[in-house]
Amino acid sequence: MKDFLKPFRDPGRMEELRKRLLSFRFGQEMKIMEVCGTHTMQIHRFAIHQMLPQGVKLISGPGCPVCVTPNEYIDFALELAKGGLTVATFGDMLRVPGSYSSLERARAEGADIRVVYSPMDAYEIALKQKGPVVFLAIGFETTAPSVAATLLRARREGRKNFFVLPGGKLVPPALRALSSDPQLKINGFLLPGHVSVILGRRDYLFLEKMGKPGVISGFEPVDILQSIILLLEMVRDGRAEVVNNYPRAVKEEGNKRAKEFMWEVFYAGDSSWRGLGLIGNSGLFLREGFSPYDAFRAFPVNPPPPRKNPACRCGDVLKGLIDPPECPLFRRVCTPENPLGPCMVSSEGSCSAWYKFG
Ligand code: SF4
Repeated sequence: MKDFLKPFRDPGRMEELRKRLLSFRFGQEMKIMEVCGTHTMQIHRFAIHQMLPQGVKLISGPGCPVCVTPNEYIDFALELAKGGLTVATFGDMLRVPGSYSSLERARAEGADIRVVYSPMDAYEIALKQKGPVVFLAIGFETTAPSVAATLLRARREGRKNFFVLPGGKLVPPALRALSSDPQLKINGFLLPGHVSVILGRRDYLFLEKMGKPGVISGFEPVDILQSIILLLEMVRDGRAEVVNNYPRAVKEEGNKRAKEFMWEVFYAGDSSWRGLGLIGNSGLFLREGFSPYDAFRAFPVNPPPPRKNPACRCGDVLKGLIDPPECPLFRRVCTPENPLGPCMVSSEGSCSAWYKFG
């Protein structure tokens, strides 16, 4: 373990926090939703579920970008790849099943699909070839600034063979939608650390007006336990505040420069999320000045009508309506080796976290 992590994984401190947690008593079930795939993984890795007081439940929300990307997007990307374009994507997207196939299968069938670690890697591919390269720009506020920076470079350099397929999503509109869904009855949010580095605390203040407490949390067990305690204190006292419990990384106003990049290139429009449906102003689309780089416009292919795998309950998992083991396919048929839905594919997906750590 790296030295700087030691205080955040200190067993004595964790035990102290666990005891504090167990002192809470609620007469009814309290649901805390985490909306970050890394939190989901850490909560399972450190068995934080098992440290909660009776009646308090942690549920996973739409915190994994691959998981919330709908089939239509993957189907469109597949058509581009099958049409002979080079498609560059983050590795997690490869195995996500679309309506009829996956990028991995298309690659096995000869499509030119490359795995990259950043949009700039995809741009480097475009620099080395004449044919078009399409980058699958999925992700939350954490990824969008680097996509924007890459597009600004492409425009500056007059690059004509680099495109993006805009699929980015914004976390606050999803939180708003989840907060106002009466079916879900969420008592508070564990707010994502990485996204909050970009957004800052201020961008979540609408939660206070909606009566939902939120705590921005780091990723180490001590961070998460402290954040849950802060949330439960607010729930117990009937307060709904947004607290920054990750001040070593998150500022009040976030990363202004990154946000400027992002909004120079993108605008917010209505976007479809797997499981959550269409959410107003929750998607990132390219501004008019960047339309020549928009693969949706440049390559108007016609994928077959999307269809869902009716057996996969990934949508319900993403809404926190069920835990993955409640899906009849979990572990029996759907495994990381044979994933039937994105929640099992992505390393940040809830099904994958439950499978690995229980
Ligand atoms: S276990 Fe597999 S099939 Fe079931 S919800 Fe998760 S990803 Fe879908």
